[in-house]
Amino acid sequence: MSAAALDIILLESHEAALRTLLHRENGTEAAAYVLFGKAEIATDPWSKQPRIRLISHEVVPTSDEMVSSSSTHVTWSTQGFMRLLGLAQHRNLVPGLVHTHPGAKAFFSDQDDRNEAELARTTFNKGTQGLASMVFGQDDAIVGRLWTSAKASTQASSISIVGSQIKIWREDAGHEDTAFLARQAALFGKGFNPIVRALRVGVIGCGGTGSAVASLLTRLGVGHLALMDNDTIDTTNLNRVHGSRAADVPARLAKVDILAREIEACGLGNHVVTRRAWVGDPSLRDVLRSCDVLFGCTDDNQGRLTLNRLSHYYGIPLIDVGLRMRSAKSGVDYDMTGRITTIRPGNPCLMCLGVVNAQRAAAEGLQRNDPVEFERRKAEAYVAGGGDPAPAVVTFTTSIACAAVDELIQGLTGFRGPGGMAHNRIRRFDRVEDRTTTCRPVPTCPVCGTEATWGRGDVNPFLGVIG
Ligand SMILES: [Zn+2]
Ligand SMILES: [Zn+2]
Repeated sequence: MSAAALDIILLESHEAALRTLLHRENGTEAAAYVLFGKAEIATDPWSKQPRIRLISHEVVPTSDEMVSSSSTHVTWSTQGFMRLLGLAQHRNLVPGLVHTHPGAKAFFSDQDDRNEAELARTTFNKGTQGLASMVFGQDDAIVGRLWTSAKASTQASSISIVGSQIKIWREDAGHEDTAFLARQAALFGKGFNPIVRALRVGVIGCGGTGSAVASLLTRLGVGHLALMDNDTIDTTNLNRVHGSRAADVPARLAKVDILAREIEACGLGNHVVTRRAWVGDPSLRDVLRSCDVLFGCTDDNQGRLTLNRLSHYYGIPLIDVGLRMRSAKSGVDYDMTGRITTIRPGNPCLMCLGVVNAQRAAAEGLQRNDPVEFERRKAEAYVAGGGDPAPAVVTFTTSIACAAVDELIQGLTGFRGPGGMAHNRIRRFDRVEDRTTTCRPVPTCPVCGTEATWGRGDVNPFLGVIG
């Protein structure tokens, strides 16, 4: 078995805190500590290889007596380092060192190798699970690695900064012919296509909005797509599911298989994987944790709650899409509203926005796990759900999908300005109106009301949820 590939995700606020801590007017090197959460991915769905992800969880400032430095070196004091190891071990996190090379490249020097090998030996002697290290060089360049024993380290092949913007450095970016993407390079510059080619995007829910999102991502040139949906196509889906055909209904084709067929037929080099499962299914955990960005196109509350938590624990931006369509009745106008919400550590979550309903989620869980009991309680009117299917029209599902993918493009390019992705965008189709809104996190919210979830990575039980 080959060594696991390594990704490092820095949350935007952590990166900003590090840059402030490490800045020295006199040009000397500086150092700080970071505690990382870890995702141990047994099988990356695209490479079929194991992958380790480190996600920044907390910046631990070092006082000057803990570290000494000049313009060319930094020395870690034993006392400060032992305290970091104690914290990491106690909280089951990965300890990390960060230092600067002011006015020089981001790379690991021979002296860094020697110093860190020593610290790695101490780390493994103490029984801590690995030692991470990063160097911040000039021009915002960053390198990172993980010591997996006292003698061996793995260099990160992907480093990203996740916040209102998404910045990604990829080792495997930019070695592919993307002539078919020339027109978008003409708009966003030649650096754009290599980024989208290397991007790993998950689409959860492949109905009206999800199928449109997946089709758009295909043409945008996204190199790695993961499609997740448990459903088969039915006749009432044909009015909006992109790529579906009437003959797919009697053939009882799965929505994910229909989309994969269409994407592969395009021949544009997108590497597609499909999973026919509901978002909470444990078989999806490796896929979800391998993605750089997730599109939530599911219409169930429980699925949304899972993705809401996952985004915080793993530092993966979630672009959640929703539609509400109500017919006009006498005296009541149409209500035709689309919503795009960007969830990530630092933004108020879907619960705080009032987008998900915990009672509905519980009812959906019951319907999934114990359908007999669900029907009994529904008959006695204890649970919501199972009403008339929601109205849906292809132009509106596709329009909101376009707006969702635009939000990703904004995160990658800043074409709307440096503010990054909007937290919550509301489109009223009946009024031809777009507006952005936000809310405050509820202080007691277990997901976004505390930084304890940010980049926490793997915990037992998964996402800290029992049952
Ligand atoms: Zn160095
Ligand atoms: Zn919240």
